[in-house]
Amino acid sequence: MAQRTILFADNPILREKSRRVPRPTEEIRELIQDMRETMRAARGVGLAAVQIGVPLRLIVVEIPEDMDDPDAGASLALINPELVRASRETEEGVEGCLSVPGWAGYVPRSVEVVVKGMDPQGKPVRLKARGYLARVLQHEIDHTNGVLFIDRATEVWPVEEGEEEQEEVRAAAGRV
Ligand code: ZN
Repeated sequence: MAQRTILFADNPILREKSRRVPRPTEEIRELIQDMRETMRAARGVGLAAVQIGVPLRLIVVEIPEDMDDPDAGASLALINPELVRASRETEEGVEGCLSVPGWAGYVPRSVEVVVKGMDPQGKPVRLKARGYLARVLQHEIDHTNGVLFIDRATEVWPVEEGEEEQEEVRAAAGRV
């Protein structure tokens, strides 16, 4: 396992549409471990492979255990994640992104989504998510399509690293 370098928003790779993973190999499972390690080290709640420079449709999500949320403790790794359904009902929430450090914004997202994909063993997965988990999944799936939260935000503002405000953003939205 190894921690990888997270790319920042000025890197054109982040704007690429990631390729589908034909089948999960040992190499893919190792990549997923690296993604998890990198996400945890950065105290993020989600990461897409493209954020570490690998444009494959692959995401990991971990909602912290101590978060006040019905999905606290949820941990997912999805290969070829796809939005099957997204509720027409949306809500605005605060988001940040490990690839856009120092910024936060209000982003409208569907309240409920259905996502399908494969787990690291290649087993088909279909899950319904609401609220915060649904938001994180939409954010990560956007990454696989070259879309960043700043593209969808209705308002963005700078947040200084280490400031109390940054901690608030982390608490409210995490960084994905
Ligand atoms: Zn992100």
